[in-house]
This record gives sequence, structure tokens and C-alpha cells, in this order.
Amino acid sequence: MRLRVLSGTGVLAAAAVLAGCGSQPDTAKVVDTKANAAAKAKASKAAKIQRAAKVKANELGQIPVLMFHRIIDKPATTDDRTPKQFRADLERLVKEDYVPITAAEMVSGKIAIPAGKHPVVLTFDDSSPSQLTLNEMGVPQKDTAVAILKEVAAKHPGFRPVATLYVTRDMFGKTVREEQSQALIWLKDNGFDIGNHTRDHLNLRGRSQKEVEEQIGTIAQQINALSYIKPSTIALPYGNQPSKKNWAMHGKHYHHQGAFLAGYTPAPAPFSKAFDPAGIPRIKVMEKKGDCAQFCSHAWLDWLKSNPDMRYTSDGDISTVAYPKFKTPYLRKSFATWSLPY
Ligand SMILES: [Zn+2]
Repeated sequence: MRLRVLSGTGVLAAAAVLAGCGSQPDTAKVVDTKANAAAKAKASKAAKIQRAAKVKANELGQIPVLMFHRIIDKPATTDDRTPKQFRADLERLVKEDYVPITAAEMVSGKIAIPAGKHPVVLTFDDSSPSQLTLNEMGVPQKDTAVAILKEVAAKHPGFRPVATLYVTRDMFGKTVREEQSQALIWLKDNGFDIGNHTRDHLNLRGRSQKEVEEQIGTIAQQINALSYIKPSTIALPYGNQPSKKNWAMHGKHYHHQGAFLAGYTPAPAPFSKAFDPAGIPRIKVMEKKGDCAQFCSHAWLDWLKSNPDMRYTSDGDISTVAYPKFKTPYLRKSFATWSLPY
């Protein structure tokens, strides 16, 4: 029993003495290995803490989830971005050390980005052809959202070309079943994430549970039949939750880990008590004009840049949730095993 409380060096000395007798008892070997393993684990934890502190890791910080619609040359509404604007949006994210993750990765806590980088979730609603149009070889058409994202990522290694596309029955303008299947499978094969945006894009507020389940369940079944994909998140049309928010999360044909809204703030980290999987805020992508002076992407990215203590910063280690010790009360209990306060 006494060996257990010895320090690593003490154990080594004791083991050496025993070895000198020429007959090291098996029990000593076991204790030695256990003590060494414990010492190693302690040293490795200390190194992890040091690495996390060095980059000021903050995995309880906020994550911008950006909401895009169409990417078109002549915007019809403030929801649309031109290809040029979209390129600039992405270049800014590169410059400010953001790395895209998908909505599925965010809600499941699989935020695998390098130390010191910040996650950003790029979401595209309404499955428009301006987001994805492929030629007969499966090459995306120039100036579509996926083409631009891939171009920017190719120019900046480390910037992952991933996004979540929220699909309705308007499947990227395709009406032929085989073409719909090609589009969804291309997205899956290229690392993109497919989300549910309901079949008919109706406002779910005030509808019966049956109607809500039908709107979400039928498109979920269709997506699955076309591509074997089961979306793990939903973007609620107009950002409106049904009467019971859980109806959007679970139904006969769907089980979501996250439901996304339409406004107006960065989202809490999935490891934070502030995270509500049934109502995750997103940010409209737009310059600081009108209502967007405060509540859209340009304003929030400025704010996150000047408030780094509020922003999610990775420690580069997916097996830990690292954060300044001061934030401990905000850790969700279910992540306690992985916690790395410093
Ligand atoms: Zn929509």
C-alpha cells in the first residue's frame, strides 16, 4: 500500500532495489507500472494545460453560426449575397483565424480545429441552385456557394471547405429524382453536411404536432431515400419554433441534436450550460446597416474580435474541453470528464 503514495522517482528506486535481489515480485511490477502511468498522465495533463493556456483556449466561448441564403449577382433581398461579397466574407474569416465546422459537428461537440483557431459554422438555407449546381462530371458551376468555398479553401490550407445546407423540397432546383440524388450524394462525398429545413418551408408556429411532424418527417424520409443521409440538425423556417420546441427535435422519422433559429447573436458553445440544443441562434450575413448595425455578421465579427474572452478558441485537442478556470460554473455536467480548466 505504501508504494502507492511514493512519487515516480521513489517507485523507480524501490523497483531498482527489488530488482537487485534478482527476484522482483510481480506485485511490485504492477505497482511500478501503475505509478508510472499515473505520473505520465499527470505530466501529460500538465502539458495540455500549458498548451491550452498558451493559446488562451476558451472552449466555453461563443461560436458564430452564419446564415446565408442565395449567392447571386443581383441580390433581390438583404438575405442574398453576391459572389464577390461571399468571397470577401470568407476571406475575412480566414484572416481572423476562423475554421469552418459543420452544424452536425458543433452540436455533437466534435470541434476538431487547430490550437488558437476559432470555429465558425457556415449554413445555407432553402437549397437554391445558387448554392449548388453541378455539371455532368460533378464539377460545381463557377460562382456557386460550394465552388467559392472550395476556391477560398484551396488558397488557404487549413480553412476547411465545409458547410451545412438546409434542404427543402426545392432541392437545388432539381425535380428529377436521380438529379436530386446526385446533388445530395455529391455534398456528402465532399464533406458537406445536410440539414432539414422542412418540406414546404411553412411557419411552424401555432401548427399541430401532426403538421409539424409531417413537415419535418417527410423531407427527412426523402433525403434518406435519396442519399442515405439522416440530418442531425434542422433550421426552422423563419426561425420560428413550434408550440413545443421539442416537436422539431424528435418525431417518428427524425431525431435531431440541434434546431437552429434565424437570429441574432453568436451561439453558446455546446459544452456550456447556456447552450440550448432546441434553439441555437444564428447570425444573418450582412454589413453594419439598419438593423444590421448591431445584429448581423459584420457587427458580431467586430465584437468577437474586440472581445476575445467571449469567443470560442480551441486548444487543438478534441479529447478535452479547455477553458479559463474562472468559467467553471458554466461547464455542462455531461462534459466534466473531458474538462481542462487552467
Ligand atoms: Zn428558409
